[in-house]
Amino acid sequence: MDKVATRATSRRKFLRQSGALMALSLQFPFNFPVLKMKIMKERFDVIIVGGSYAGLAAGMALGRALRNVLIIDAGKPANRFTPYSHNFITQDGTPPAAIASLARQQVDQYDSVMRVSGLAVHAEKRPDGFLVQLDSLETFQGSKLIFATGVVDLFPNIPGFSDCWGKSVLHCPYCHGYEVRGVKTGILGNGDFAFEFGTLISNWTDDLAIFTNGVSTLTPGQISALRKHHIPVIEDPIKALDHTQGSLKGIVFHDGRFIDLKAIYSRPAFAQHSDIPKELGCELTSEGYIQIDGSHRTSVPGVFACGDNVTKLRTVANAVSMGTTAGMMVNKELIQENF
Ligand SMILES: Cc1cc2nc3c(=O)[nH]c(=O)nc-3n(C[C@H](O)[C@H](O)[C@H](O)COP(=O)(O)OP(=O)(O)OC[C@H]3O[C@@H](n4cnc5c(N)ncnc54)[C@H](O)[C@@H]3O)c2cc1C
Repeated sequence: MDKVATRATSRRKFLRQSGALMALSLQFPFNFPVLKMKIMKERFDVIIVGGSYAGLAAGMALGRALRNVLIIDAGKPANRFTPYSHNFITQDGTPPAAIASLARQQVDQYDSVMRVSGLAVHAEKRPDGFLVQLDSLETFQGSKLIFATGVVDLFPNIPGFSDCWGKSVLHCPYCHGYEVRGVKTGILGNGDFAFEFGTLISNWTDDLAIFTNGVSTLTPGQISALRKHHIPVIEDPIKALDHTQGSLKGIVFHDGRFIDLKAIYSRPAFAQHSDIPKELGCELTSEGYIQIDGSHRTSVPGVFACGDNVTKLRTVANAVSMGTTAGMMVNKELIQENF
């Protein structure tokens, strides 16, 4: 991942503006340390923590609104485990990293948008905005904050699960269901999730079973509805997922039984990728998402959130849509405060 991407013309422009170019050019080659000093000195209208699909979309909206923006990104998007991303118009079947790379190139066209690689570890309210600190101890100041930090999937302790995640263990049929239509498929889950996904996935395949990996918590009504659609509920404890390089072969049970499957849907537990919104006082929903209003405002004035960290409808298209809207709403708030 690139260290800091910005155009050389912008670097020179800033250093000229700060009156430092002459002095610095005598002391340092024109390299990364100089650039870091440049960003350290600058105050931003908006700092975006998280520079994947939602964060880059917010950055583009704000760059086009002539805002000085800093995007901080640690380079760990949730979909990095999947070889191909689907169901994002114009980019269907494109590797996720290629979509993000094109997004970065396009955002970098805007001189007022800077990006820095790193992990934001702390943020605090200041009288005139916010201060954000990276793990490198660099600090940046901004009038508004946008968290586009995504979530982290917490894999169950089943050998093979993480190897298959995004390849043959899938989170969403709209992203990957077409590629595994009609194949022998399992749903790994229990209770309402298993029932909801049992009904949903029956749209993509008739050869479906639910694996609860222990005692079922589905209601008798749910089980009988599933039975009518020939979807069995199997409670046997799972030992491992058998696979070749992430391509699922089947489930191995503790009693030695094996059921062959080509795909499994699962919704693992998740955690917020960053604790900073919570530390700043942003309220979370009962499900663990950052609570926002219709304008992507969190419960903390001046702090906005967008993308996977606010919704379970996890798609690139949705993240981009939310990021664009959040950027527009932040710009609107800045205009209203200063008009
Ligand atoms: C396995 C898998 C496959 C998927 N396949 C598809 C698909 O085919 N089609 C589709 O439309 N969607 C797919 N999705 C969903 C899609 O990946 C997400 O909806 C999308 O990535 C959300 O974008 P985001 O920007 O909100 O978060 P992310 O893409 O997860 O990015 C969050 C970014 O914030 C950074 N970050 C977090 N905390 C900090 C911090 N403190 N400091 C700095 N940076 C930080 C992270 O490093 C990361 O780069 C898939 C998801 C998964 C898990």
